[in-house]
Amino acid sequence: VKSRGRNGYDFFDPTMETKSLERILMENELRKAIEQKHFEIYYQPKMDIGSKQLVGMEALVRWIHPELGMIPPNRFIPIAEETGMILPLGEWILREACRQNKEWHEQGYELKVSVNLSARQIYQKDLVENIRQILNDTKLDPKWLELEITESIFVKMEEATPVLQEIREEGIQISIDDFGTGYSSFSYIKSLPVDTIKIDASFIRDVHHNQESQAIVKAIVTIAESLNMNVVAEGIELTDQAEALQLNGCDQGQGYLFSKPLAKQDFDHYLKAK
Ligand code: C2E
Ligand code: CA
Ligand code: CA
Ligand code: CA
Repeated sequence: VKSRGRNGYDFFDPTMETKSLERILMENELRKAIEQKHFEIYYQPKMDIGSKQLVGMEALVRWIHPELGMIPPNRFIPIAEETGMILPLGEWILREACRQNKEWHEQGYELKVSVNLSARQIYQKDLVENIRQILNDTKLDPKWLELEITESIFVKMEEATPVLQEIREEGIQISIDDFGTGYSSFSYIKSLPVDTIKIDASFIRDVHHNQESQAIVKAIVTIAESLNMNVVAEGIELTDQAEALQLNGCDQGQGYLFSKPLAKQDFDHYLKAK
């Protein structure tokens, strides 16, 4: 293409090469992992902060690579979203979480499972039909399923809203994850067909000693109440944070203070110990 330098690499960016190669390998590995179902779902308890009662759990996926071990979702969910692999993966996660929750229900634990849904999944044509099929197959009552979506889906608000409405008509609940991180949060919240607002962990981190974070929590709680929505806080690590949340009217939460996300067996033990 161009004249080459002494080493022949003048127009060649080695970091780009490394990245794309790594990326190609990663995509191939991910494709294999999806075929072979090399994933596990961890469950993080969701609590009523005041009574310390367990109310449900969030399903969080982990990739268990045969050689590399556990790969956290932040490293592969974005790739799964970009490539569309999130569609088969997301369906597997949803089915597995519903199946598992039904099993716990049969053991007498009445818990709601919250499953994260990517924007890509919302725009998938047969999403609602798939969910209906999964609930039918697993026999989980839809009221024990909640879907967590992020504000990113409201880039295409007109497309997302009717899908969310259809989901709610099935009796499934919807929660807005990471709430408050998108700058338009407060302006669109009133027009959203959602049941729960999940306050982003960034407001929880300093809620016990920062008045602005307290004011934000209080504002979210006030809005939620007037719109008949529930409020949940995430990333609670300290008793002081839990107390500050309660003082400001937020009754439910999850975080390391109560428990880390647990593998199925560990969640079983957790349930028995309760
Ligand atoms: P997220 O939905 O906001 O999930 C909360 C994350 O915070 C989880 O990280 C959880 O392990 C972590 N966490 C919980 N309590 C605490 C705490 O007290 N302190 C701190 N520092 N962190 C806490 P995880 O499991 O690594 O997941 C990261 C993100 O990956 C999730 O953020 C979500 O966006 C995505 N993700 C995870 N599982 C799924 C899934 O099944 N489907 C989709 N589409 N996305 C998923
Ligand atoms: Ca979530
Ligand atoms: Ca979140
Ligand atoms: Ca997050």
